[in-house]
Amino acid sequence: MIERVAELRATLDAARARGRTVGFVPTMGAFHEGHQALMRAARAAHDVVVVSLFVNPLQFGPSEDLDRYPRDLSGDLAAAGAEGVDIVFAPPVEEMYPGTDFASVGARPLTTVSVRALTDGLCGTCRPGHFDGVATVVAKLFSIVGPSTAYFGKKDAQQLAVVRRMAADLCLPVEIVGCPLVREADGLAMSSRNRTLSAAERAAATVIHRGLQSGAEVVVAGERDAGKLRRVVANVLTTEPLVRLEYAEVVAADTLAPLEAIEGDVLVAVAARVGDVRLIDNMTIHVDAQGAVVDLGTTVAPTGEGLCAAR
Ligand code: AMP
Repeated sequence: MIERVAELRATLDAARARGRTVGFVPTMGAFHEGHQALMRAARAAHDVVVVSLFVNPLQFGPSEDLDRYPRDLSGDLAAAGAEGVDIVFAPPVEEMYPGTDFASVGARPLTTVSVRALTDGLCGTCRPGHFDGVATVVAKLFSIVGPSTAYFGKKDAQQLAVVRRMAADLCLPVEIVGCPLVREADGLAMSSRNRTLSAAERAAATVIHRGLQSGAEVVVAGERDAGKLRRVVANVLTTEPLVRLEYAEVVAADTLAPLEAIEGDVLVAVAARVGDVRLIDNMTIHVDAQGAVVDLGTTVAPTGEGLCAAR
């Protein structure tokens, strides 16, 4: 594990000087199969695999779960080692944000990165400033690590769109690869926050996936009205008393602009609170004259071995 920027740079400069390529997986830790799938994708394509483990205070709002966010450094180091990761970069907060005292309310670094439009809707509405925090830390990490490729999960579809746009607009020399959303055997999208759910909340949370499945069924059956699709998904989620729907939206997969008609590449995105825990999930649908193809990601087999297409 490396904690200091200078040490990581020196190590990676030396690797690059020997012609090695660097693949990078940014994370906030508390690893699960979704993270590990990204590590495997990086391992398959690069000489050196770097995983960052940093719970970024800049992307948490004042009333959010920064202090309660799950942390498991020793478990994470073991999991990364098992995936053949070469370097885990786990900097302290002051190494990433020298001079910013996050203990004082509203503290922000003087320089931040902001991506407009893509961050207005979906989670941007409920989490003002969140994506500025994400774009800023990812830009900093790209500058520190200098990867040729960085791997992100489609579970965080809006984040992936924001990072792609940020890298393109800032001419950053890094390829952004989106990897499939990984689900538990019962369909719940894997998330570090799942481990903070009570047993009853964990059981209730599966309604999110069932809502998306119901939406997928009506689109495959021919529904092309985005409002009706939205209502189908929302209605399933509101059947579960422990789950409070924050939004269910149907947007264009590239621009994230709300849609009226279901056509082309469509993102159906959901956020819900289960107790105190905020969870997100999504599916993409490609719709053309031939019909609709739904992508709900991949599901781990009940044994934990292997991945297969989610239904
Ligand atoms: P996090 O540690 O939650 O910030 O996530 C780090 C990376 O893992 C991000 O690119 C996420 O999109 C990705 N990720 C988290 N959960 C999943 C999942 N269930 N399936 C695929 N990727 C995921």
